[in-house]
Amino acid sequence: MSRKPIIVGNWKLNKTVAEAVELATAIKNVLGGLGHVDAGVAPTFAALSEVAKRIEGSRLILAAQDCYHEDSGAFTGELSPPLLKDVGCTHVIIGHSERRQYFGETDESVNRKVHAALRHGMIPIMCIGEQLSEREAGRTFEVVERQLVGGLRDVPANQTRGIVIAYEPVWAIGTGKVATTAQAQEVHGFLRQKLGELYDSAVAEVVRIQYGGSVKPDNVSGLMAQPDIDGALVGGASLKADSFVAILKNSG
Ligand code: PEP
Repeated sequence: MSRKPIIVGNWKLNKTVAEAVELATAIKNVLGGLGHVDAGVAPTFAALSEVAKRIEGSRLILAAQDCYHEDSGAFTGELSPPLLKDVGCTHVIIGHSERRQYFGETDESVNRKVHAALRHGMIPIMCIGEQLSEREAGRTFEVVERQLVGGLRDVPANQTRGIVIAYEPVWAIGTGKVATTAQAQEVHGFLRQKLGELYDSAVAEVVRIQYGGSVKPDNVSGLMAQPDIDGALVGGASLKADSFVAILKNSG
């Protein structure tokens, strides 16, 4: 079965609102010719509503970079899935390695957020990936399995259809060191096998697994040619329209 690739630009803490609107508009304007791929952007929270207005009616996916697991209440500084939906997001990145590294995100908090997103009909893009020291210690599979199982704990099979997993080896994020296609495929194949064990083969076949870590226009096609790589989560190269659009084009 073929899974439609999904490529999302994670803009992190970059771009003013005006710059975000300009970039999203430039990407939206070329999507007509790129029907082979689902494309999305994840601006800062501050830019979400303005970007949403500008891309309304287009195929460009709007994703948030994080969410909280409660819907509302005394949680200063947080944003919930209902609010994110209200401003036009359909997807939400959960458990990005920077959230895990700098903001204390754990498999448990990731799991709570995944449930919250699903409860409100949002699609989680759940990030997992090993650190360099873990890879060097031969613990890659153990780490990503723990993150996969922990993040999806108590998520029933009938809610997994929309879920996107992003495998992002931490040592490849923002470093210019892309995993080789063989290294990436090896982990993606392992994750798909684990999804089959956790659920069943139908779930394993349908869940899209993105690769993330220094994806660029010149390495995306080799990654996308791997049988278990179904797209990309892109940081640095998503901040300019020409490089992100080239990634979308080269992913086909
Ligand atoms: C990311 O932040 O998810 C990422 C993959 O960043 P970069 O493409 O810059 O490595």
